[in-house]
Amino acid sequence: MLGYANAVIFVALALSSVSANYIRTVPSGEFTKRSLHHGMHRRAGASNAAEFAKIQDPAQQCSYYDIPELTKMLKSHQFPKVSHIASIPEGDTQAQQVWQDIQNSGIIPKEVKVKGHTDGKGHSAIDLAGYDGSADPDCWWSASTCKKPKHANIPSDVYTCKEPNTWGLTFDDGPNCSHNAFYDFLQKENLKATLFYIGTNIVTWPLQAQRGLVDGHDICGHTWAHRAMTTLSDEQVFAELYYTSKAIKHVTGVTTSCWRPPYGDVDDRVRAIAAGLGLRTILWQDDTDDWNVQPEGDASVQKIDQNYEKIIGKADKESPIVLTHEINEYTMKEFQRMFPKVKAAYTNVVPLTACTNVTKPYVEDITYPDFGQLITGGKATGLPGGDSIQFDADQSAFKVVSFSQQENGFGHIGRSRTANNPETSSSSAPQSTPNSSFSDPPTNESDTKEGTKSGAATLSGALTFLAGLGSTALFAIWHTTL
Ligand SMILES: [Zn+2]
Repeated sequence: MLGYANAVIFVALALSSVSANYIRTVPSGEFTKRSLHHGMHRRAGASNAAEFAKIQDPAQQCSYYDIPELTKMLKSHQFPKVSHIASIPEGDTQAQQVWQDIQNSGIIPKEVKVKGHTDGKGHSAIDLAGYDGSADPDCWWSASTCKKPKHANIPSDVYTCKEPNTWGLTFDDGPNCSHNAFYDFLQKENLKATLFYIGTNIVTWPLQAQRGLVDGHDICGHTWAHRAMTTLSDEQVFAELYYTSKAIKHVTGVTTSCWRPPYGDVDDRVRAIAAGLGLRTILWQDDTDDWNVQPEGDASVQKIDQNYEKIIGKADKESPIVLTHEINEYTMKEFQRMFPKVKAAYTNVVPLTACTNVTKPYVEDITYPDFGQLITGGKATGLPGGDSIQFDADQSAFKVVSFSQQENGFGHIGRSRTANNPETSSSSAPQSTPNSSFSDPPTNESDTKEGTKSGAATLSGALTFLAGLGSTALFAIWHTTL
């Protein structure tokens, strides 16, 4: 796998041409139209998730509405500003305490530095110049697709399914305001997925977020404002993750144990802070690149089809977790169009709960079927109904729960249940840090080929990342193996 010449790729992109159309979060300009800023209270044309799920007109689904309790929380600074890089709002002593505990735990490796920078407009840019991507001491996915941490007490990333002939079904960047037809399709096909929701989107489209849980999918965080996490300060990383988990809890009622970094941009510093919050880092093995379709992106529809076909073609050999999006109408429709082929090739198309046999992904008492149960028709138990799920404004409702306190959350994958040592860390393990040893996540034979794919995957990751940046032109120097 190392028989490839080291190369340096200079990627120069005038980002203004692509970034304007590449918006994964609700633009703050749009959000200002909300009643939050104008004092108008508008109902959604639906008073709960069940009623909302029946609305078919996309324009009606995407009309802003108001959940008074949530709006009050947003206005009283119990969450960061929507679409802005998160930090701990002044006066949130609960968050400050959790953040202090994580810092005191010693889990954050001090030698892993912030990558790149953020400009005054809140745009973040990674910078690979001067970083040794071959040695990759920080296990920086953007540099080498590294997924196995090089620092102690941090669990490895999850990116494949355990069972053969299995497609790990995941959709990022929701909740999309007009996803009802897509979720209806998933329901009709009896498909369950893992949904990586953006914090800003959750508080903007709470009834849509509730539908994700009610329908039996499982929900992980995808950060508050969808920035490249390695470019953010320790506290910003904490806040991006913490307030997304808090939004999921207040809006849907569950405390999640998983997250996925935007653009895959994660290193051991970011992983450690996530671990301190009881969040397992989930990546992917295969990327449909669906978000990148023309005319907004660079790829033709045919190219996206080919990406799907390539993944479909290896059903007999690998069981990948696959990256797909609910970001726009195209990505949602593309999955529906390709699904018959996916289904014909893969015996099993399953969410990460079944893919990894995590049956208690939340702290709350909701049990998901494991792989064997799911493929024989098993359903989750303890889920709220669409007419009963409610927003919870109780400030004490959200609590961080460490891996060791999670019954069978994502933190359990690859963890030795008998081990209870802080490994090489000399600090005592506080409540918010994992206190068991971790081995590799579930793998299959394709892992051994990872090195041969890392160059392309890395470059793809780079372009994915760059496309998500602000309007500043950027030169990125890319050290990789090709
Ligand atoms: Zn994303």
